[in-house]
Amino acid sequence: MDRKTVLITGASRGIGRATAELFAKKGYDLTLNAVKSVSILQEYAEYLTKKYRIRAEVYPGDVSDFGFVKKMIDFAVSGLGGIDVLVNNAGISGFSLVQDMKPEQWHRIMDVNLSSVFYTCSLAVPEMIKKKNGRIINISSIWGEAGAACEAAYSASKGGIIAFSKALAKELAPSHISVNVVSPGIIDTDMNQCFDDIEREELKERIPVGRLGGSDEVARVIVELAEAPSFLTAQVIRVDGGML
Ligand code: NAP
Repeated sequence: MDRKTVLITGASRGIGRATAELFAKKGYDLTLNAVKSVSILQEYAEYLTKKYRIRAEVYPGDVSDFGFVKKMIDFAVSGLGGIDVLVNNAGISGFSLVQDMKPEQWHRIMDVNLSSVFYTCSLAVPEMIKKKNGRIINISSIWGEAGAACEAAYSASKGGIIAFSKALAKELAPSHISVNVVSPGIIDTDMNQCFDDIEREELKERIPVGRLGGSDEVARVIVELAEAPSFLTAQVIRVDGGML
């Protein structure tokens, strides 16, 4: 029997890495992407291949580059026989007051976080439509719902993912393809290493569960969505310890 396939962007660390392991554990074949941590990603793919006896291919590059994304999608489709599940996880943050933000900072965040999601979806969807099956899971953020001070570009990019995903879900529903969003709260990954101990304690006080979330907790929700019925579509699932 053919194994299911998943493409995960930003899989070298944090949420993407945890998600890759959970899919591998469930027997999926993987295409894993990241841009800078290429050797780490390669070693991780080898580890997953050996441990779970699946195929894990690496396709490194910048998801904000449409030409690169086209090659990555072609690679995933021809190499592993398709993309059953697409997880758009790659993302960057950036802190700045709006009046201090340079247009290039704005465009970089929008390109990596939001345009990339349009690129992967637009290129992966034709294959999914042919099969009349597919699951797209886009990773937003609670700041895409609520807005965060000094993170206007990040918040706008993540809010854009939500609106884009809801629209795409409606386009693809007749083809049995679901599009859902996972909206994490504050998760203990490299993205939050900028906070010192005092700031982390202050953050914990704002989270009803009393701690930062784990990458593995977000990963579990992503995998659940990948295996959910197609009637579950156009939803935003918040994984935030009750913060919003
Ligand atoms: P992370 O630890 O910083 O990892 C980010 C991943 O994205 C890395 O694998 C990185 O690859 C990859 N990446 C960055 N720019 C890329 C590009 N241009 N092309 C391809 N890959 C790229 O982040 P994380 O905390 O796991 O976050 C994962 C997702 O969840 C992001 O979309 C983030 O916005 C979202 N999120 C995170 C939190 C949180 O509190 N951590 C909360 C809400 C939402 P390299 O290693 O090669 O740089």
